[in-house]
Amino acid sequence: MKTLSIVIPVCNEQKCLVPLYERLKKVLATLEMNYEIIFVNDGSTDSSYEAMERLRSKDSCVKTLDFSRNFGHQIALTAGMDCAVGDAVVVMDADLQHPPELIPKLLHEWERGNDAVYTVRRKTEGIGLLKRITSGLFYRFLSKMSETPISPRAADFRLLDRKVVDSILRMRERARFLRGMVQWVGFRQTFVEFDASQRYGGASKYSLTRMLRFGIDGMTAFSRVPLRIATYLGLILSLFAFIYAGYALAVKLFTSRTLPGWTSLIVTVLLLGGAQLLTVGILGEYVGRIYDETKRRPLYLIRRAQGFDREIEPPEK
Ligand code: UDP
Ligand code: MG
Repeated sequence: MKTLSIVIPVCNEQKCLVPLYERLKKVLATLEMNYEIIFVNDGSTDSSYEAMERLRSKDSCVKTLDFSRNFGHQIALTAGMDCAVGDAVVVMDADLQHPPELIPKLLHEWERGNDAVYTVRRKTEGIGLLKRITSGLFYRFLSKMSETPISPRAADFRLLDRKVVDSILRMRERARFLRGMVQWVGFRQTFVEFDASQRYGGASKYSLTRMLRFGIDGMTAFSRVPLRIATYLGLILSLFAFIYAGYALAVKLFTSRTLPGWTSLIVTVLLLGGAQLLTVGILGEYVGRIYDETKRRPLYLIRRAQGFDREIEPPEK
């Protein structure tokens, strides 16, 4: 019999865990598969860890990982995949925005020979207009700029075959943007649409600044186009400067109206200053990431791992 692993990152979700577990169990009981449920406690400050431990003490299918602090959603997903033994791995959020009832559909696509089945939100209840618009624009922009197509509205709810999981786990980069990484590895992929429901309880952990950081991570991890902005901006500005220099010379040589020219001066200074800051900033984003990667720190640290039948250590190379 094949094994299915469910990986769930948890950061302050004490209210959601029991209802999630119950709905999951109901679905998993209908499958003819062995399964394990891996909760990754990503530095929760509420009683999420106690709640998952309570579930584990009653059910040997539940396994828990406890991080030493908060390492972030994408890293929590990675840690869960590191420890998962399934022939297929489903990752999903803890807040019940990802309906467990969709899992049989994902499995059906997997059995038809797809190696990665990702999900796309048809509509999302209870998501602010601002988040919807900015995220839509961001993914459209990112897809244009990167060589890897990244589907807009894709959720961090997906089923991955063992070979896709192993491929992704070989990518140990720190700035993890799993939506892009899954697309990057290739294999046979398909998607399933679903209606995301409202968060069951608690609050979203993605504030505007966190979303922005996530967006910049995705952009820099999958596109070098921003680096080229410096080149293009430089080219365009030089062209203008060249034309303007010709004009200035002509005015000087053939007319007598050489005015102090405050406006053109200030505009040029501001424009050049802005362009320089922008391109230095873009360079900084990439250089900072090179710095982060060269330190080769482990992606995460585990305080406790419970319920696994083998020693759990982050497999760093
Ligand atoms: N999460 C996490 N670590 C974090 C932030 C979030 O493990 O630092 C988990 C969170 O518990 C949830 C999932 O990642 O299971 C998605 O987070 P959230 O629902 O806050 O994001 P949103 O759905 O609002 O984009
Ligand atoms: Mg959510």
